Amino acid sequence: MSENTNEPQYDFGIMGLGTMGRALLLNMADHGNAVCGWNRDPSKAQAVQEETGGKVGGFSDLGLFVAAIRKPRAIMILVPAGGPTDGVLQGLHPYLDPGDFVIDGGNAHFKDTERRITEMGEFGFGFMGMGVSGGEKGARYGPSMMPGGTPEQYERIRPILESVAAKYDGEPCVALMGARSGGHYVKMVHNGIEYAVMQLIAETYDILHRAQGRGNDDLAQMFGRWNQGELQSFLVEITSIVLAEKDGDKSLVDLISDKAKSKGTGKWTSQDAMDLGMPVPSIDAAVNAREVSGYKGDREAAEKLYGTPLLGNVSDIAEGDLEKALLASMILCYAQGLAQIRAASDEYKYGTDLPTVAKVWRAGCIIRSRELAHIQAAYANRTDLPNLLLDQDYSRRLHDLIPALRKVVVSATAAGIPIPAYAASLNYFDSYRTGRLPANLIQAQRDLFGAHTYERLDKEGSFHTQWE
Ligand code: NDP
Repeated sequence: MSENTNEPQYDFGIMGLGTMGRALLLNMADHGNAVCGWNRDPSKAQAVQEETGGKVGGFSDLGLFVAAIRKPRAIMILVPAGGPTDGVLQGLHPYLDPGDFVIDGGNAHFKDTERRITEMGEFGFGFMGMGVSGGEKGARYGPSMMPGGTPEQYERIRPILESVAAKYDGEPCVALMGARSGGHYVKMVHNGIEYAVMQLIAETYDILHRAQGRGNDDLAQMFGRWNQGELQSFLVEITSIVLAEKDGDKSLVDLISDKAKSKGTGKWTSQDAMDLGMPVPSIDAAVNAREVSGYKGDREAAEKLYGTPLLGNVSDIAEGDLEKALLASMILCYAQGLAQIRAASDEYKYGTDLPTVAKVWRAGCIIRSRELAHIQAAYANRTDLPNLLLDQDYSRRLHDLIPALRKVVVSATAAGIPIPAYAASLNYFDSYRTGRLPANLIQAQRDLFGAHTYERLDKEGSFHTQWE
């Protein structure tokens, strides 16, 4: 491990050499950056130094680590969100000098990032929240990164981030996502969309595998084919890999417990969408679906009580219907997430540019897909576009795709196969394109029991009726 040196010799440091920190540090070193890492467990610090032949410094002594970085220092934290991040910041505090700059690359809640910006600022330290996406491989060979902060702060770390970021047509997938916690907000919604698309793919697999009896090898090939077309995306691609994986003579996926875990970013997306009054039903459905999956014992007991669904009823759903339904729903998930980011940008004054968000998501991140280039073009074409559904090109494409989504929802629902994300996506579309919803009746009911008043279509003003 690195010993005390007289002169600081590194330009950038990373704290937390777990999956992401280690991979990003090695990526930075590969691109010629003078970097070092710190980990509380010395073995990880030692390992990173040894495997790079000493090119990367490894420390478990915080004082030595900080002293080895040139001033004003730039240090990134990649540890679990919440308490561990606060703990690391507290430990780091005494060693920092005014003007030093800390970047939290973990999946922090954006409200924690707001607090930390204030707390660190009081001591003259810069603090920036940055979302990093792409998992271990992404961090190692090219992540998508979503920093938030001021243009001056971003400029300070732009060269190193651009050197390691994923590239799309030569453009680095990193850009300033907005002021203050804007980067963590965009990353949170990215994860919300990720939950929704994963759930949609799982529902597709359920219809084809459990109901239609198609084997995993066959489905691995099908997802591989889909990945060559309009559905081309990281999540479709890895589904093909997952379904092809064997454990002995069995498919590994068949041996994996059907209880999905989560770390909270999907739930946070839904929670803040509700606070903003922004509908994101596909994301809500995906969060709920993971929660329902956790009640394995109850589900098994209920299956005995109610019997298995009428699986044969989905025989009319063709592979091509699901391909179109998945594409339509994916588009609807992006539409919901981006509309939420626009609302958050207005509410929290982030100044987020949606074409830039779509641009940064085109490569490196978990929700990267061919579709994002079209989405970027739609928002670049009309920067005040309130929702992707109002774009002319998207309206033409959805006209073509929605009948297949409707067929999937109708048949799967009739058969008793749970498709919460497909149904939520279709209902989002149907609600959004309905000029007159039955909310008039809700307003009347509210006025009857709570004198909440209502507005009328034929007169200006606010009205109350003495209902009989
Ligand atoms: P890991 O669990 O692989 O590594 C966590 C690291 O944090 C380890 O180095 C660990 O040290 C250190 N750590 C944990 N608790 C403390 C603490 N209290 N004090 C000091 N160090 C601590 O996590 P990841 O690398 O996967 O994730 C890091 C961050 O990146 C998280 O916020 C995560 O949400 C985010 N992220 C993860 C992605 C992924 O795909 N894994 C993708 C995008 C973001 P030690 O070795 O000593 O335990």
